[in-house]
Order: sequence, then structure tokens, then C-alpha cells
Amino acid sequence: MNKFYIHCAIPYVNAKPHIGHALEFIQTDTIARYHRLLGEEILMLSGSDENALKNVQAAEEAGEDVQTFVDKNAKLFQDLAEKLNVNFDVFQKGSDKKHHHPSAQKLWQLCESAGDIYKKSYKGLYCVGCELFYSPDELDEKGECFEHPGKKLEEVEEENYFFKLSKYQDKLITIIESGEYEIIPESRKHEVLSFLKSGLQDISISRTNKRTKNWGVPVPGDPSQRIYVWFDALNIYQSGVGFGWGDKKYQKWWPADLQVIGKGIIRFHAIYWPAFLLSAKLKLPKKLFVHEYFTVDGQKMSKTLGNVYDPNIAIKKFGSDALRYFCLAKISPFQDGDFSEEKLKEAYNADLANGLGNLVSRIAKLCEQNNIQATDGSNVWCADLEKYMGEFKFNEAIAVIWELIAEADKKINQEKPWELSGEKLKAVLLDYVKRIQAIGYNLQPFLPETAEIILKQFSGPIKSGLPLFPRI
Ligand SMILES: [Zn+2]
Repeated sequence: MNKFYIHCAIPYVNAKPHIGHALEFIQTDTIARYHRLLGEEILMLSGSDENALKNVQAAEEAGEDVQTFVDKNAKLFQDLAEKLNVNFDVFQKGSDKKHHHPSAQKLWQLCESAGDIYKKSYKGLYCVGCELFYSPDELDEKGECFEHPGKKLEEVEEENYFFKLSKYQDKLITIIESGEYEIIPESRKHEVLSFLKSGLQDISISRTNKRTKNWGVPVPGDPSQRIYVWFDALNIYQSGVGFGWGDKKYQKWWPADLQVIGKGIIRFHAIYWPAFLLSAKLKLPKKLFVHEYFTVDGQKMSKTLGNVYDPNIAIKKFGSDALRYFCLAKISPFQDGDFSEEKLKEAYNADLANGLGNLVSRIAKLCEQNNIQATDGSNVWCADLEKYMGEFKFNEAIAVIWELIAEADKKINQEKPWELSGEKLKAVLLDYVKRIQAIGYNLQPFLPETAEIILKQFSGPIKSGLPLFPRI
């Protein structure tokens, strides 16, 4: 059996989850479910980036100790995933001293033995939002980073450990250009290559205890410093599958077959992470899929605008599968898409209550009236759906299923089964049943709850059920 290790990004847990986190969880889970149905053995991982300075600052503002604060917020992410039927096999916390700390330290030691870590004093502009030093030419005209407008950068001067990122520039260009390390979509691959070709600087990979307030993974052999958050955070993808504590597990699952991340953290994943792994002489992940963001009511989500949308609200009002449907079907993963409750409601009523729900209840009713018994459906993917799933075009894959729905609707209206009887009627109804079974089968990765209900309802003697999506 082939293994398939997939992970999404590990969110910072300095605040509660927003709709963008739901989007990434749903995309990741859909891919994982699809691969599971292809017969592969799946491990799906997420976790929480708990050692960031911004977690320390947010905890201070909340007047809580950091551990209590990150535990509480990490739980909110786990709860959200559960409500979305996104069942991570591993949720690896960054503050886990049993597995994660020794694992991050092992990665450090491997890079150190490769001669890639050195100490020097450093002065630079630091964005706590990104946990990253910027050079002035990377900032906007106000001297702020593009991810965090309105946030002043801190001028920081301290002695840190540095990683020889520059040493890996050529190697990274080679493996990305050749597709040995694949970045999807092509436009993001070009972005990474042009950044690499503009020249890499070595990066600071530690912080003083003073600046981290003694929070984070201690640097091996130097108790005065903590490991820089990205160096340890990226390693969650390994520490969660045994690196440094469970060789057998690690051998089985590493490397990751697919990483799912948002565009804002591409540099860390497409450059830093493979460079650390190359230095440590470990295998690289195979593929990186970079998705775009949600705007909310037409604007970029921000605390200042007050439009940060809590996905729990949508789940409560419309249900988990409805939110999954919107995130997958109504935006392209490769373009920013807009979310609003109004748009979700429209999609819910038009496509779920009317389209899918109406078709299923119509056919179930006809079958019940005529005592139709379902035989097993065939478990086959629509050809185009397979193609689109391979390209992570969830919206196009779902559109293929909605074509099946439209076709079935059309067929019923043409054949008018309510005017038929006897063998002719039975044959027509059995054909509808096959169609519904195919729809249910193909829906599984996208709308798991709904697919399960449909497949159950259309096995054995068929009965009418409750509406799948009552109109709102
Ligand atoms: Zn920033």
C-alpha cells in the first residue's frame, strides 16, 4: 500500500482561527480523503507554531502565562478542524518538550555538524508578525512589511546564530527548476526562483533568552539562546512523524508527499525548509501546493477593519458541509476569493438545497413509492474529476459533480417518470439510482457527511429521508 503523508501549515496560535484557516484545513482534508479512497495509507498532520515571539507578546497582553495561552488557542484550532470533519492523525504542538524539543535540537545539531551554523552579531529590522528580518528594500513606502501593514518593524541588535542559507542557493535553484521539488502553481514556482536568483543572505536562526522571555526550544550547547521560531516550527512536519524520537515511524512516513500552505509563507517553505533539510542531509518533501487567500466582503481580512470572520459562525448557521462546499466550489484555489455570509447563503440555497438536495429527495420519493431496491453502485471517479484533483482545482472537480446533478435533473424532466408505469418505470428509476450513487461516491472527499447519508439512503430498499439541506 502506498503511503501518503500530507500536512497543511502550522498556524500561529496567537489568536483564534479565522475563515482562512478553515479554507486550508478543508483543502488539505479533501486531498487526504481523495487519496484514502484511492487506496493509499494516509497520514494527515497539522500542529501549532507555539514558540513565536508574537505568541509571547499576545500572552502578555492577555495577562496569561505563555503555556496556558498557547494551549487554549491551539485547542480552538483543533476544535475547528473537528467541526469541519477534518480529522488530523497528528496535531503536533511546538511546546511539546517530549517529542518536539529534542527533534528540533537534533535538526540543529545535524546542520551544525555540516558546518552550516555560525555566530555573529546582527542588526536589522524585524517584523514580529512575520517573525522575519527584512532589508529596507523589501518594505513598502511606509517602511512596513506587505503582510502586516500598519505594524511598525522593530530595530533589533543582538548576537545570534546564523544558518548558511547562501550556500544552498544553487542547489535549490536546480531542484526547483528540475521539478525534483515541485511547486504548484507555476506562477509561485517562478516567484521562488526569481527570489533565489536575486541572491540569498544567511539567516539568523536563534534569539536571545531576553527577547524570547525564555520561551522556545533551547539552542543545543548554548543555554543563553533559543532556536528561531521558523527553524523549530518547520521541523514540526518532522517531529510529528518521529524525527528524533521514533525512527520506525519516521522511516515509514518521511518525506512529506504534499505540503499545503498559503502564499504568505512561501519563502519559509520553498527556501528555508528545503535548505535546512539539505544541510541536515535529510529527504525533501515532494510537492508544495500554494493556495491564495480569502478576502471578506471584498476586503483583506484585518483586525483593524474588524472583518476577521470566525468560521464557527458559518458552521453553526449553515453546517459543516455547506462551508466545505463554499470553500472548495466557489473560489479558485489559485486566486484570492471573496467570502461573505450572503454569498454562502446564495450558494447554499441554489446548489445545495435546490440542486443536490432537491434531486436526491425527488428520486428517493419516487423510489419509495415504487418499492425500488438499490443494488450496489460502482465505485468509479468521474474522469475529469481525477484530472482536476491532480491539479488541486477543487472548484473544477466539484463542477463535474454538479454537471451530473444537472444531467439527472434534465433526464427526469424529459422522461417524466410520474407518467410511466411497470417495467419501463422501474428501469428509469434504477438508472436514477445509479446516478445518485455515482454522485454520492464522487462527493465523498468534498462533502463527507452528505456523501455518507446519500450512499446509505441509496443502498437496499430506498426510503425518503429528511431534506439534506433545508432551505434557509
Ligand atoms: Zn510582517
